[in-house]
Amino acid sequence: MSGQTVSARCTDSRIVGRHCCGPDAFLLDVEVEQELPLLRPGVFAMLSPANGTGPELGRPFSLYDQHGGTLRFLIQVMGVGTQALDRLEIGELVTLTFPLGNGFIVADPNRPVVMVAGGVGSAPFLLYARHRMQMGCEQNTWVLFGARTADRLYDAEGLAAAGAPMLFATDDGSQGFHGNVIQMLDAELESGRLPRDARFCACGPEGLLHGFADYARKQGLDAELSLETYMGCGFGVCNACPVETEPDGPLGSWKWARTCEVGPVFALSSIRF
Ligand SMILES: Cc1cc2nc3c(=O)[nH]c(=O)nc-3n(C[C@H](O)[C@H](O)[C@H](O)COP(=O)(O)OP(=O)(O)OC[C@H]3O[C@@H](n4cnc5c(N)ncnc54)[C@H](O)[C@@H]3O)c2cc1C
Repeated sequence: MSGQTVSARCTDSRIVGRHCCGPDAFLLDVEVEQELPLLRPGVFAMLSPANGTGPELGRPFSLYDQHGGTLRFLIQVMGVGTQALDRLEIGELVTLTFPLGNGFIVADPNRPVVMVAGGVGSAPFLLYARHRMQMGCEQNTWVLFGARTADRLYDAEGLAAAGAPMLFATDDGSQGFHGNVIQMLDAELESGRLPRDARFCACGPEGLLHGFADYARKQGLDAELSLETYMGCGFGVCNACPVETEPDGPLGSWKWARTCEVGPVFALSSIRF
């Protein structure tokens, strides 16, 4: 139920869908030729246009949704790589190396789970929420989703359709809680509406993850982070994405771990972040 691991492959795969989901983001549907089992939330792909219009190196994107051999990615347009992907049309090919990374191990059904997402950091949580709903965990699963403005709560309806209870936060108060997602998490924990004994899973931009890590440490929360570290190759060769590990922590004596190979999901207790 927690999703299978499959050996990674590099293929040129066809774009079969493309949908705008915010002022600077879109959903990209790609058909791979193999029929895939349900994969772990948090695994990722390296993507680049197959027509050579993008940079040499692909860029990493979490698997957002999966239906058999059709994969969906949620992509925020940032710079050269994502702009090149944004220019592609249905029928064109992307070079895809997939699946990569460890992904989240979906928590035991009795364990409450709180997902904390900022912006495109929501990407691993549609599949996580769907796994939990399939396990019958509607009562002890929550998705907290924050963004600067309501129109940057990318594909909020698609994420809500997974069925987990959702709470929204926006910096400008245009939807849900007025403030950032960590302030909302704090308010929910203080009021007792969310349980402190949950597993807290976070993904988002670096600032949000640092804020979350500080908060989770102070509060003694059991937390996991999916890191969005810069990456070159995505599979452990180029050494571009190291994260410092805790000595004698769960990762043993390694001082540095490659985010792409050992992560991108880490227990907060295992890294110095
Ligand atoms: C495991 C993993 C999963 C990811 N999943 C997603 C996802 O599902 N959807 C999504 O939209 N993005 C995701 N990202 C982030 C995405 O890979 C970057 O936004 C992308 O590489 C930017 O490429 P670019 O060529 O467009 O930008 P560049 O031209 O390389 O950079 C443009 C600007 O963005 C900044 N930037 C680029 N990458 C990052 C980064 N990783 N962190 C902080 N700032 C950055 C640069 O400093 C620069 O200012 C993920 C990253 C990782 C490591």
